[in-house]
Amino acid sequence: MILNTFVEPPLENNNYLLLDKDKKEALLIDCSHFDKHIIETLNENDCELKYILLTHAHFDHVMGVEATVKETGAKVVLNTADELLLKDLNSFTFMLGLPSVDVPIVDIFTTDNNEIEFAGKIIKVIHTPGHTKGGVGYLIDNNLFSGDTLFKESIGRTDLEGSSFKDIEKSIKSKLFTLPDDTVVYPGHGPSTTIGHEKKYNRYI
Ligand SMILES: [Zn+2]
Repeated sequence: MILNTFVEPPLENNNYLLLDKDKKEALLIDCSHFDKHIIETLNENDCELKYILLTHAHFDHVMGVEATVKETGAKVVLNTADELLLKDLNSFTFMLGLPSVDVPIVDIFTTDNNEIEFAGKIIKVIHTPGHTKGGVGYLIDNNLFSGDTLFKESIGRTDLEGSSFKDIEKSIKSKLFTLPDDTVVYPGHGPSTTIGHEKKYNRYI
């Protein structure tokens, strides 16, 4: 499995492209922006983009989804509790003076502990409300794609509509911090870390 990180506008979002060259399948975690480099990487590796897994529905994680789906036919996955936030996407683009985009159509709505099969592996969907109501982490082997719930030595904002410090604290303590210490954490923004490092050094939790 090959992991490529694309840092995308508008807020230096990490979009993670996972490729299985043997099975010729790929998945993308968050899609902030339609990036032709992602399409080129798929083509170069002869991989089909099966899924776009959304960690949550904030505009900066989803603005490129529909354009990328048109190009690739990927299926879009989101937690059911972020459906309304996604539908509201263009009120955010409008507020920020960004061009409006097509609102993504979700193919698969998840709830806590759902599993997604990809390239012969099971991806576990861990519901981690707090930053948004429908925020999730995706666990693939010992890699956790944590969205804006857990960052290196920080956590996601909880001063936004629909967010809650109590919930994010509970999500991190009772779900993410029960993963093995050597679990590698790939956040929605900024550098990667590990669960063990965050248990020791994250002073927000
Ligand atoms: Zn966010």
